[in-house]
Amino acid sequence: MSTYIDQTLKDLKAKNADQPEFIQAAEEVLTTLAPVVDAHPEYQKNAILERIVEPERTIMFRVNWIDDTGAVRVNRGYRIQFNSAIGPYKGGLRFDPTVNLSVLKFLGFEQIFKNSLTTLPMGGAKGGSDFNPKVSPHTPGKRCSDGEVMRFCQSFMTELFRHIGPNTDVPAGDMNVGGREIGYLYGQYRKIVNEWNGVLTGKGLPFGGSLVRPEATGYGCIYFAENMLKTKKANFKGKVCAISGSGNVASFAAQKLVTLGAKVVTLSDRSGAIYAKSGLSLDDLKAVMELKTVKRGELSEIAKQLKGVKFFPGVNSWQIVDKVDCAFPCARQNELNGDDAAYLLKHGCKLVAEGANMPSTPEAAAAFLKAKILYAPGKAANAGGVATSGLEMSQNAEHLSWSAEEVDSKLRGIMAAIHDNAYAAAAKYGHKGNYVMGANIAGFTKVADAMLAQGI
Ligand code: NAP
Repeated sequence: MSTYIDQTLKDLKAKNADQPEFIQAAEEVLTTLAPVVDAHPEYQKNAILERIVEPERTIMFRVNWIDDTGAVRVNRGYRIQFNSAIGPYKGGLRFDPTVNLSVLKFLGFEQIFKNSLTTLPMGGAKGGSDFNPKVSPHTPGKRCSDGEVMRFCQSFMTELFRHIGPNTDVPAGDMNVGGREIGYLYGQYRKIVNEWNGVLTGKGLPFGGSLVRPEATGYGCIYFAENMLKTKKANFKGKVCAISGSGNVASFAAQKLVTLGAKVVTLSDRSGAIYAKSGLSLDDLKAVMELKTVKRGELSEIAKQLKGVKFFPGVNSWQIVDKVDCAFPCARQNELNGDDAAYLLKHGCKLVAEGANMPSTPEAAAAFLKAKILYAPGKAANAGGVATSGLEMSQNAEHLSWSAEEVDSKLRGIMAAIHDNAYAAAAKYGHKGNYVMGANIAGFTKVADAMLAQGI
């Protein structure tokens, strides 16, 4: 590895010793950049690496809200505006008790390269709160009520609004921030600024949302994987696919796979995993989506209602399959470890495409690379969501709504372009077929060149 990268990582670790997820993400990217950094001494001369690992701005704020019993609750809100060299900051909001500076810096850092790969002009950001909508603060076993979620979102936006704008920073959803939360957040923003400018993406269709945005990350991940399979002259017909998660990304990835003739055998959530040896049907997937987005329940509750489905409590999707061709981790970071990777490889896995952000631990990623299977990192494979958010921004700016076919066809085109760019960048630097390296180099180069051109 180049000494410049070595030194940058050493300094970064010393400065951010309490941020393990951020260090992991930075290490994953920087350690693949040696060929490009060696070929471009101007990057070191202009301290591009030191600058790209430091957020342009980090905002932390207090969020007070009143629960249904009248008690005052206090959470912490964040927005990490990481890099705006190629466009306005763009990235999701996550509401989860695991949210902290380290997790959001890892996600914001990844977002820089992901957004650059989409071919659209979007900078990198991430934000959220340690608010947990899934646990009521006053009634054990219950979730926050709709009213509590609304009051939290309104209070969160009462501070966030001053830091965002359609040409400054355009947040979207992420874990536990779906259509309902985006609606409440946007409603509050609009009231405060007295202007309709579409500042959030993932909005509802009646107020500027884009068709296919909810489906885009899951569908895009499968389109990316289809492009990988094409390089081996293969397709999804009859492929046995394991998916983790059962939220937004997982459900639409599963739906697309089933329509392409694949067999989806697993899904998971915090309660455990379901295994359907002969594959889940589109009706099964519909029932899971309703469970997750309307009833807001757990997979443990639905397993008995679905035919031929077994429930495994407390485990993820990986080590419950007999045979598997493709795996799609679509739940959360570091959910697939070295043992899981070894199990998947031993049971026939030839393709892994990450719907989630950094779901594979460094050990798992190294095992996939060593086995030379088709392995797509999240920043490339799950970029379809933010790409379609970019398309939502374009529609809002034009005051137009495109048809589902038009958006889906643009999404397909973008995923093919991301695939081809990552593939070409890896090949150019002598690592043909290494999508991790290709995605990092292609994403990095565009941002680094923009930073160079814009001076210090
Ligand atoms: P989501 O709808 O909230 O779904 C998350 C899924 O992961 C749920 O099934 C959840 O289970 C499961 N999960 C979360 N924490 C878990 C834990 N500790 N143990 C076991 N299961 C856990 O979120 P999403 O939007 O699908 O996002 C999933 C991943 O994709 C995240 O890494 C996100 O950053 C990434 N991503 C999302 C988008 C997007 O457009 N949504 C775009 C790019 C990347 P429960 O239902 O039990 O909570």
